[in-house]
Amino acid sequence: MTIKLTNSKTRKKEIFEPIDPNNVRMYVCGPTVYDRAHIGNARPVIVFDVLYRLLRHVYGPDHVTYVRNFTDVDDKINARAAESGRSIREITDETTGWYLDDMRAVGAMDPDQMPRATEFIGAMISMIEGLIAKGHAYAAEGHVLFSVESYKDYGKLSGRSIDDMIAGARVEVAPYKRNPMDFVLWKPSSDELPGWDSPWGRGRPGWHIECSAMSYELLGESFDIHGGGNDLMFPHHENEIAQSCCAHPQGGFARYWLHNEMLQVEGKKMSKSLGNFFTVRDLLDGHDGMPGVPGEVIRFVFLSTHYRKPMDWTAEKAEQAKATLKKWRSLGSSALGTGNADPRVLEAIADDLNTSKAISVLHEMAKKIQNQQRHDTPPDEVEDFVASARLLGLLEDRANMGAWVFEGAVGKLIDLTTYADHLFALRQSAMETKDFSAVDAMKTALLDAGVEVRMSKAGVELDAGPNFDAAKLEGLL
Ligand code: AMP
Ligand code: ZN
Repeated sequence: MTIKLTNSKTRKKEIFEPIDPNNVRMYVCGPTVYDRAHIGNARPVIVFDVLYRLLRHVYGPDHVTYVRNFTDVDDKINARAAESGRSIREITDETTGWYLDDMRAVGAMDPDQMPRATEFIGAMISMIEGLIAKGHAYAAEGHVLFSVESYKDYGKLSGRSIDDMIAGARVEVAPYKRNPMDFVLWKPSSDELPGWDSPWGRGRPGWHIECSAMSYELLGESFDIHGGGNDLMFPHHENEIAQSCCAHPQGGFARYWLHNEMLQVEGKKMSKSLGNFFTVRDLLDGHDGMPGVPGEVIRFVFLSTHYRKPMDWTAEKAEQAKATLKKWRSLGSSALGTGNADPRVLEAIADDLNTSKAISVLHEMAKKIQNQQRHDTPPDEVEDFVASARLLGLLEDRANMGAWVFEGAVGKLIDLTTYADHLFALRQSAMETKDFSAVDAMKTALLDAGVEVRMSKAGVELDAGPNFDAAKLEGLL
């Protein structure tokens, strides 16, 4: 199986060759934990989750290590603590929990490791000391700065020269900087701010050093893939490369750099000032009078656009995705999870994560199954269809496959199969006693709850109709 990925470092689509196929290593920059994740933040999570699933499929689940960090030391967190009167730890713990809940709701697997920056301060200090010793960094007025002129490849990833950067960027000019582009590795903390003892006094790390230190500690001086949104390419990733390559020049740091494009809303950039800003939780639970959108639907909409293209979130796309998933789930209802992913779906995903192509193959497979249903679809086809969808993280939750409904805001899965089993059992005993009153009562109650009931010799089939009301199912079993 050949995997091809567009490497931002070379600006080319390349054949992916892992350093060690027994341990394929990926690092993705995670969130700064001071607030709910907005839906743009979910894009890299979903994109790299698909890559993670692909790598696990190709190299084996035990041969992939995926690390995604939590930035839990940052001035935005400090500001949030100061304005709310709450402790930093309380805020970062709460936000971390929210983040994991929200990302699991959109079907993202947890990475193998999720380090918090504050647990790696010692590793950051050692790396900074090494950089000073090698002449790549200098201490000045309680700060430590990285000297960009000491690294000849600085700017290579984003394709800028240092002079261009100075001209184009609003860089902070500080008297202690030798070059305006020099960036902070360590800065002093006042008593009320979080701080750690260091050779340069009590202080805290700059943002970029955490990813260099944590990826080194957890993945080594060279690893395979580094990912994140393309807004991070400069300065964050440029600075990570400078730090890591100067600290461990023989390592080479990450070999393949992948960047997802940005998310927009209804054709406009998502921003607080335009009023089109919403969090993943807003979307899941419903907001501003809009109904909630199930996590699987959010995931489907995201995967319909290639990760390297800007993507638009619209309510209309969500509606279409919802209808498609409902159909797919009913087609896959008999699946036991024993199928093999279709090679065309696998190939599409392996071709630089062409998820929209993978989805169109799934559409073809679904159409074929649907056309055959009148005759009996070979069970293998259904199984393979479901296995293929699961490569994208869709159609999980086998127990609920046949009876999946979008219940209210969160898209809770309601398992109608237990109701179907119950009705079937009632009918079995009624056949013996010739008393069908319990069967009729159950059927009437289900119809009243908006459930479509189909009874045949072979069994009972239930489906949620358009007026389905889950509340009316209570007490029926
Ligand atoms: P942050 O917490 O802002 O550092 O962002 C966490 C991750 O979300 C990074 O990988 C960003 O590149 C990514 N990200 C932020 N905004 C967007 C957006 N509008 N669309 C896609 N990705 C985004
Ligand atoms: Zn990072």
